[in-house]
Amino acid sequence: MKIPNPNTTKSKINPKSQIPNYEGVIKRYREYLPVTNKTPIITLKEGNTPLIYANYLSKMLGKNFAVYLKYEGLNPTGSFKDRGMTMAISKACEEGSSAVMCASTGNTSASAAAYAAKAGMKCIVLIPKGAIALGKLSQSLIHGAQVLAVDGNFDAALELVREITAKYPITLVNSLNPYRIEGQKTASFEICDTLGSAPGFQVMPVGNAGNITAYWKGYKEYKAKKKITRLPVMLGFQAEGAAPIVRGHPIKEPQTIATAIRIGNPASWLQAEAARDESGGLIDMVSDKQILAAYKLLASKEGIFVEPASAASVAGLLKLKKENYFRRVTKSPSHQVTRITCILTGHGLKDPDRAIKSIKEPRVIKPNLKAILREIGYA
Ligand SMILES: *Cc1c(COP(=O)(O)O)cnc(C)c1O
Repeated sequence: MKIPNPNTTKSKINPKSQIPNYEGVIKRYREYLPVTNKTPIITLKEGNTPLIYANYLSKMLGKNFAVYLKYEGLNPTGSFKDRGMTMAISKACEEGSSAVMCASTGNTSASAAAYAAKAGMKCIVLIPKGAIALGKLSQSLIHGAQVLAVDGNFDAALELVREITAKYPITLVNSLNPYRIEGQKTASFEICDTLGSAPGFQVMPVGNAGNITAYWKGYKEYKAKKKITRLPVMLGFQAEGAAPIVRGHPIKEPQTIATAIRIGNPASWLQAEAARDESGGLIDMVSDKQILAAYKLLASKEGIFVEPASAASVAGLLKLKKENYFRRVTKSPSHQVTRITCILTGHGLKDPDRAIKSIKEPRVIKPNLKAILREIGYA
């Protein structure tokens, strides 16, 4: 593969990354995935999500930096979980399983429910009571999953799912299932294929830490296959009230408005630390206030509506920019453009309540031309 000159690729997209008759991540990247001719492929054409050049954020970062947003909210069920779920459900099918189960802060269950429906399998979901966004709950329910609200947090629900799936013929489809990680790593392939090389830095939210594990695995495999020549620096962000990796111990009662990363004891903790250390990156935290500011900025300046957890990546980007991190650690010659990808993990419509709570309600006005013109500044 030809590596384009980074000087000339500021907002240029590799034309070969546009795929006609797209059939989902398994077909596109099957040589990198543990599938055979016998694997039934259960797909909703997940993946192939846009990598969007961020004008406003790039300007904020300053000369020689280009920020790209990987908009994973455009997957079929509205989050990146679909990349892993197409693999997990396809393999469960191949193995003759008839039921799958997961614990979920919402998106895993939405995705599992949809792919299980497509495969004709039973899906059982444990959610933490009262801590799941309405959009996600509605998805699991309408796809016909059996949803049980556990009077406890995500970590407790996951523990129960592990116990049950170890004893009974039900397939676990949390990211502890290695096929989930396999599917999710395709996102890093897409980024490299689109940019023509790996980004200099990647910023992403960290919850249960499966996704940072998957991206890092993907980048390393692409390097081993000589598709890219260098690896990105991995920068993960937890929410301040749910930052076990940053603080160095599990958090009993994790708290944050970013429900998708409200996790106190990440299943892939060690793998996340490995991604951080092997790439020379960091795992840091951002406050709910910083997350909400990034959430509003993405919507109002970049035109992209994400759920709060996804905004943690941009909140992290802005925190590091403030600390002058990128200029301090960038090794490229000063005339080269350093590319930064931010992973936007889920769609804003998952959690519309949060948007409405964050912004002023619309003003009520008389149905009167003059009153409206006065209001909008034309009279
Ligand atoms: C699952 C999820 C995360 C966290 O990913 P992990 O793999 O658990 O670290 C972040 N954002 C959204 C929208 C998610 O659904």
